[in-house]
Amino acid sequence: MPIRVEIIAQDRQVWSGEADMVVLPGGSGEMGVLPNHAPLLTTLEPGFLRVKRGSQEEVFTVVGGFAEVLPDKVIVLADAAEHVEEIDEERARRAKERAERLLASEPADSEAYLAALAALRRANLRLEAVRRYRRERPITAPPQSTGSE
Ligand code: ATP
Repeated sequence: MPIRVEIIAQDRQVWSGEADMVVLPGGSGEMGVLPNHAPLLTTLEPGFLRVKRGSQEEVFTVVGGFAEVLPDKVIVLADAAEHVEEIDEERARRAKERAERLLASEPADSEAYLAALAALRRANLRLEAVRRYRRERPITAPPQSTGSE
């Protein structure tokens, strides 16, 4: 019996589908959920959420929120979540640079500093997801040599 998975972020429904196993970045560590798991509620740390079905694996970044685990269902309510294939790498790189600039200029006990730390963590998480989990893109064929040079 597969597990039904719903991933919902503050601003949108991110993904729903079925899984044999879900791995969550729970508040007290990474947590694997198989069908018929005992019901529980857990907070989520910024991290990777992996949904496994057969030999397929869908990977998402999640930033905060919580998950409800039921015997046949996992509902994720995240502050923000993205499938690894929809992460805009350039945007994450810009967010990282912005956060690093703020960390260098804001006083260490200020709210702006703490907000920049959190933004840096989100950006690094997205960049790491792209590095570790993004599927290889098909390589476009190099231009054919005309043989005349
Ligand atoms: P930015 O400064 O680029 O907005 P952020 O970390 O402040 O980044 P969040 O507040 O975590 O952004 O997310 C706001 C919305 O933007 C969410 O819907 C989130 O999924 C989306 N999002 C943020 N960064 C990216 C990214 N690099 N690629 C795709 N979606 C992103």
